[in-house]
This record gives sequence, structure tokens and C-alpha cells, in this order.
Amino acid sequence: MSSRRRFLQSSLMAAGAALLPAARALPASNGAKVVSTWDFGVPANREAWRILAAGGNALDAVEAGARWAETGQCNSTVGRCGYPDRDGFVTLDASIMKGDGSCGAVAALQDIDHPISVARKVMEKTPHVLLVGDGARQFAVAEGFEPRELRTPEAEKAWREWRETSRYAPEINAERRGVPGNKDNHDTIGMLALGADGRMAGACTTSGMAWKMHGRVGDSPIIGAGLYVDDQVGGATASGVGEEMLRNAASFLVVELMRQGHSPSDACHLAIERVVMKRPQASKTLQVCFLAMNNHGEVGAFALHQGFVYAVCDAQQQDTLLQAPAVYATSKT
Ligand code: ASP
Repeated sequence: MSSRRRFLQSSLMAAGAALLPAARALPASNGAKVVSTWDFGVPANREAWRILAAGGNALDAVEAGARWAETGQCNSTVGRCGYPDRDGFVTLDASIMKGDGSCGAVAALQDIDHPISVARKVMEKTPHVLLVGDGARQFAVAEGFEPRELRTPEAEKAWREWRETSRYAPEINAERRGVPGNKDNHDTIGMLALGADGRMAGACTTSGMAWKMHGRVGDSPIIGAGLYVDDQVGGATASGVGEEMLRNAASFLVVELMRQGHSPSDACHLAIERVVMKRPQASKTLQVCFLAMNNHGEVGAFALHQGFVYAVCDAQQQDTLLQAPAVYATSKT
């Protein structure tokens, strides 16, 4: 049976049931687990795993993992070494969410190298969910985060070179991976963790699309687009051209598909099909990737284009990197 037919069938079944499913008791956890997008997810997972393995909670774990991605590496797409926007400013987006619905986020944040921790402070210390731009920066400074220059000499050089053509052309990562000296012009670390207590949390942090318009905000800090977590079901996160996730409330969609009974992998596949259905032509030229984990610790992923890898870490496997299935085998732009 095609996954589309399975989807229709489960939708029809759901239509006969109560509109809002009753809250279910949380399952006894099969054990802690953390998953992350891309190859830098492997070392980031290790940081998160340190906390989970010591009996720590999922929220602390994803914050630690995301913090590593923000400053422990020098990557052109996340945190301190992120490529700037077209006016030369490095602006960062991040969100964090607990499975009980608590969440916080920052967007277009400048000069602060741990946006994920600022997002957590927004969640824990304000009545709001999302702070942006100057307001987010002021809040971060008031909370003790030290402002610093985020644009590295290498990022500045890349920006100056880009200005020679000023062509905004998001690249499909698959072609660029493994090319020596190559830097991706967009990616995100999206991380989902399941604690030994059965509770979940997620984090998502990025510098967004290189050379974006100043003020552009992607999916990563938008709850439901780049990240969504519900202890009753599971969590989902995204990477790729954020406008597609925003158009489709994509991470929420993946979680809701899991709520209807789909496996994480089918839910990601169906959400990718939705992206294709909405913009069939555009989807041939850009990358969209989903990663999901349900509250039993089952993991799935799917991408538009081949090349999306994700990292899985639990008591049995610490450094596993898996290739996600994709709609398109080729990645020509
Ligand atoms: N989703 C990010 C954004 O649109 C970029 C990426 O993950 O590739 O800002």
C-alpha cells in the first residue's frame, strides 16, 4: 500500500474517532536516546549523551548538545562561525522545547554565541515564547550573556567573495559534502532527546541561510516549523530551506502524523510529500530534511534530496551516522 493511501486510510480512521485524542499515560521509556541532524550531530550527541547517561534530563541534554554545535566547532551554518546575511551581519535563530509544551526561542539574534541558552532563558524567565533582534540581544545581555564578534575572518572573506556576484542560491548539501575546503551555505543542528524518565525535549539552532536578507527569520526558531515536541507522541525537527518548513508548519505536521499512528519514518516521508505537493518545481532545486523520534525511541528521517545524514546515540550506539532516504537521488540545482 502506498504511504499516501496509508495516510488517507489513517485520516479516515481518525475522522471517526474523537477530534482530540485523550491524553495517554507516558510509556515506560525503553531507555534514553538522542538524535541530531547532520554529521556534526555525532559530537553534539556525545555532549548530550554525557548528561543522559548520568541520569540527567532531556532538556539539559539537548541544550548541552546544541551549545557544542554553536561554539565547539567552527561551522559556517551554526553559531559563532556562521556565515553572515547579505549585509554582513551574523544573525542567529534558535528554539528549545520540552515535551510538556514549554518552549522558548530567539530570532535574528546578534553578538551572542549561545542562542540556544538564551532561548531556554526566554522559556524559563519570561511570559513569552519568542524574542527577536535587539530585544533578544538586550534580554541576553541582561541575563549575563557576553556580547562578542561572531563574524570570523573566514566568514568575512566568504562574504566579500559572495558580494562579487551577490547571487542568492541555497545549495543542496549533498553535492558539497566531502569537498575539501567546502563550506555549506545553510544547515541547522536539530536535536531530539528522550530521557530515561520517558520525557522528551528538542533544540534547534542555526545561523540560517547564508546571504539571506537582513531580518530574514527561518523555521528554526518557530515552534511547529523547525521544532516540535510532545511527550504524548514524540518530537520532530527540520533542516533545509526554512521557508518550506514555515509554509507547511512542518515539524508540527510530522508530530501530528505520528499522533495518527504513523511511524517516525513514514511521518517524515509524508511531510516531505506535502512539501513536494505544495511546490513541485521548487522542491527539485532545494533541500528539505526531517528527523523524528517517537516517545518509544523509534527514529525516522526523510529528505527531499539524497545526502541528508543524521546521528543517533543511545546506550548501544554512540557515534552512529545514518543516511536518510530521499525523494530525489540527484541534487542538481
Ligand atoms: N532551516 C535553516 C533556515 O532556513 C537552514 C538549514 O537548516 O539548512 O534557516
